[in-house]
Amino acid sequence: MTGLVYFGSAHQTRLEASETLPAKLDLILDRLHLRDRVKDETVVIKMHTGNNLNYSTIPPVFVRKVVQAVKDGGGKPFVADVTWDVEGAEQRGYSPQIIGCPVYPAGGPQDKYFYAHERPYKNIREWKVAGLIEDASFLVNFAHVKGHPSCGFGGAIKNLALGCMVGETRSAMHDSCHFDRYWFSEKCPDPEVRKRVAESCPHLALVEDKQRPGELHLHIEQCNQCRRCLRVAPAGSLRIDPVNFHAFQEACAISTAITLSTFAPGKAVHLSLLTNMTPMCDCFGFTTLAILPDVGLLGADDILALEQSTLDLTADLRLIEENLPTSLEIHDRRGHPFQQLHGPLKDPHKVLDYGEALGLGSRAYEVVDVMPVESISRQPTRRKMDLDRTRSIIS
Ligand code: SF4
Repeated sequence: MTGLVYFGSAHQTRLEASETLPAKLDLILDRLHLRDRVKDETVVIKMHTGNNLNYSTIPPVFVRKVVQAVKDGGGKPFVADVTWDVEGAEQRGYSPQIIGCPVYPAGGPQDKYFYAHERPYKNIREWKVAGLIEDASFLVNFAHVKGHPSCGFGGAIKNLALGCMVGETRSAMHDSCHFDRYWFSEKCPDPEVRKRVAESCPHLALVEDKQRPGELHLHIEQCNQCRRCLRVAPAGSLRIDPVNFHAFQEACAISTAITLSTFAPGKAVHLSLLTNMTPMCDCFGFTTLAILPDVGLLGADDILALEQSTLDLTADLRLIEENLPTSLEIHDRRGHPFQQLHGPLKDPHKVLDYGEALGLGSRAYEVVDVMPVESISRQPTRRKMDLDRTRSIIS
């Protein structure tokens, strides 16, 4: 089945408010019939409220538009995010006075309110969906697209996968990368050699494991798979292997499937804002310069169609390398720009592969531009006519 993805371009024809992205968001919400679908529903707007000094999360003007649409349709909206991001959210503009609805910690103030879902996966047995997410009857999944150091990119799936689970499950999801062994201490018994292996990493991704002396711990987030460490590590002692890098993406797909299963069919819409696309997740507590040009805004009922169109619309964009923090390194220019940024094993398409296998939706889609940018034809200027005449005389 082909999913419809509604698109509002960041580009505009005229210098008019009606052609800006917030105005196009209204058109997308119309096309999704959001107002007609939320009467008497308790609507959770799941977004990333950022952390600390992050100033590139979804601007409050967009959130207010969604809140107003839900209210217009007779629904009861609230914004939810993880506890530690909601604390201080008003400093980034997400207060009831500005966005028009309350902002709640999804798992309650102590992050202890959840519903457990049993689904064994590597180190995870139970997935604890935040109580306020599961209690809601309608979901607006409003994601900000950016790079992500664990999985290449964060979009609509990532927004649900981590943000709708309580902290215990979020930690376990990150730990899934360490379930399969990558350090084989028996092949490197000499502590001096082990130290040299760790020191060979220019990104400080390899450290002594504090819980298990004699073992090395790989910080997946910091590892861009440059493989310098493999030149130093004794044969067979270290693996930089897809199984560890892909585990988090599979966990994200499972988590999202569990969260979406708590909503009745037709009770979820997905929005993604493709502006201010920075290298890292919004939870990092800071903002850096954008590393891709702004694209616009997408909306769909099908989360996979939305994610596939997100990746396709960004696939051929130029990575703005001059905007990268100098600590980051591009060592492989193949693949999606987010993959170039975070390393070949952090392929942003992987989470879609896992999502497709779980029946999350369809990757086939058709884009409907809610306000195509017009090309304006103009009469040549006087100077241009003079130049053309000069050229024709010379030739
Ligand atoms: S592959 Fe590169 S970034 Fe990753 S741990 Fe080895 S040296 Fe560090």
